[in-house]
Amino acid sequence: EIPRRFKLAETVSDVVLFLNQAARRRHITLSVDVPPGGCPVTLPESDVRQVLYNLIQNAIDASANGQTVEIEMGRLDIASVQLKVKDRGVGIPTNLMSKIFEPFFTTKSGSDSSGTGLGLAVSRSLIEAMGGRIKVETVVGSGSTFIVTVPTPEGA
Ligand code: ADP
Ligand code: MG
Repeated sequence: EIPRRFKLAETVSDVVLFLNQAARRRHITLSVDVPPGGCPVTLPESDVRQVLYNLIQNAIDASANGQTVEIEMGRLDIASVQLKVKDRGVGIPTNLMSKIFEPFFTTKSGSDSSGTGLGLAVSRSLIEAMGGRIKVETVVGSGSTFIVTVPTPEGA
């Protein structure tokens, strides 16, 4: 996909609008922190959209009813932006940390439509194709934060 210039905040708000239906059914609040200017980037927009969708869906799945998922974005430096998706859900046990990015690894069972185990594997390859990185900080019982850093020059 050819990179184009768009505001990351607008793509985030599209994805949040879409996933809000599922979140509201479980009384989960999707909270977006939008920086002034809306965080302009030059990136493959539908790939970014897919990554956002996967990370926010996972954060909803990991949350208990009534919890909040926080999405933050902003420029890290003149050459890159950072995006964070934070939940206060179940967290990821240490022994699973090396497996979650593997294709088809899932802890979600049967009828759950999001349990293909491909979300993080696909997200990671899309981000790496942009020259970026994804990492996770997690505490079992307290939640997880997925942090995406992608190169995109300021004013490009
Ligand atoms: P899927 O969502 O289809 O299971 P993913 O590749 O998106 O596949 O995620 C793989 C696994 O990583 C999940 O099944 C879950 O065990 C774990 N995981 C991903 N995101 C989170 C999260 N925010 N909190 C806790 N576990 C997570
Ligand atoms: Mg998933």
